[in-house]
Amino acid sequence: MAGDVEVLVRLGLASDDATGLPRLPTAEVAAANARRRALLARVARGGALSHKGAKPHLGALSPGCVRCGERDWTCMFLNQHCNGSCFFCPGPMDTRGAAPFAERFVFHTPDAYARYVERMGFRGVSFSGGDPMLTLDALRAHVRAVRERLGDDVYVWIYTNGSATRGGRLERLLAGGGVDEVRFNIAAWDYDLEAVAEAVRVAPRVTVEIPAIPEDLERLKALLPELERVGVAHLNLHQLMVLGTNGEALASHPYRFTADSVPAVIDSELCALELMAFALDAGITLPINYCGATYKERLHGTGLDFRAATAVAGPSEVVTESGMLRRLWLPRRSEAGEDVTARLSAAGADPARWREDADRGGLVVHPSLLGELGELPRDAWVTYHRCLLLGAADGVEDAESVPHEAHPVDLGDGQRLHVVVVPVSAELPVDRGALRALSAGETPPALLAWEQLPYGLPDYA
Ligand code: SF4
Repeated sequence: MAGDVEVLVRLGLASDDATGLPRLPTAEVAAANARRRALLARVARGGALSHKGAKPHLGALSPGCVRCGERDWTCMFLNQHCNGSCFFCPGPMDTRGAAPFAERFVFHTPDAYARYVERMGFRGVSFSGGDPMLTLDALRAHVRAVRERLGDDVYVWIYTNGSATRGGRLERLLAGGGVDEVRFNIAAWDYDLEAVAEAVRVAPRVTVEIPAIPEDLERLKALLPELERVGVAHLNLHQLMVLGTNGEALASHPYRFTADSVPAVIDSELCALELMAFALDAGITLPINYCGATYKERLHGTGLDFRAATAVAGPSEVVTESGMLRRLWLPRRSEAGEDVTARLSAAGADPARWREDADRGGLVVHPSLLGELGELPRDAWVTYHRCLLLGAADGVEDAESVPHEAHPVDLGDGQRLHVVVVPVSAELPVDRGALRALSAGETPPALLAWEQLPYGLPDYA
């Protein structure tokens, strides 16, 4: 289901089947780009292209999708067990008793996962599988653990194909009070809406989340009024992508694929945008959100680094849009020989916002303090650092086992992860113009490539 796709993108698990896939014929590239531009313009007029143009949507996003966009989301895969047989599924999903994992880390207990959510500062938590409703007791235990530790600070949703939500099972889950939204992959059962209609009567919010399957476009158009009628709150459309073991199945359809490291189906993206344009023309008010490969690559590809950086950033440091930790360094003494620390203290600068690093021979200073210095220094520099969340499976048992700064993430019962802060840049000199930009909270042009995510969707090639 959709959650599986998310995590595989995060993990970069492109399939081995990714080579030799049909590309867009050269003669069709210009027409495909023109068609997409026209559809995006139509969606932009009636909705929005948020997240720097990478996420077209009509109407409001689900609160869970908002947290995803803020890179505040973790997805726990409770089992690899499902009774569906979706051709686009990234794995066989026939493993009973598989260990629960999130962001590739196995968690020994529900409380260990809840501690992880808390320590990393996630505010959106989802449960996927396979289908987590097939292991209802484990799902309830995890939802309860997250709620007990974080209360109402998190938004919780589940993914299901709907086969196991009926017969009172969804009510049993919801009776615990911890689930805010239920998302149905109705493509698993030929777009049957019975389970969805039942869920709408008992769940706080019901979303339909499916891949945009090009050959089903006309069926999807006919489905939109039905989704509205039964009370679905959101329709989330994913772009079909080659993930895990689904490459052969996707290649058996008449699709054209991007040449990206995780190949995506061009026809699926066009199908999603066609459906959104149709909804606008037909006066459908159901919120529709398109989740494409570009959005996932940009937001999820940097997501865990961003969250790890946010979790460990000190008050003198800045987390960039690209998910890096930026440190701004000043020499301890100004060109005039003045002690910069004395100057900051005398100006009443918040002592938490700067610190001395004797090893590097400089001060790490938050850019908001530059105004306290009088004349800006000529010999400042910045460094960038990736914050990697690593565990025992990566060979990181304790902080001493890595040659970098490491921050423990204690999960209880002896289980522990570490955020390892790895320098990835040289010392990059910043002139006074760049310091003025940093002081104003802006990114100077010379640092844009380090700090910002690109805008828009890249042309098909
Ligand atoms: S519902 Fe379909 S996509 Fe989701 S886990 Fe089951 S078989 Fe895979």
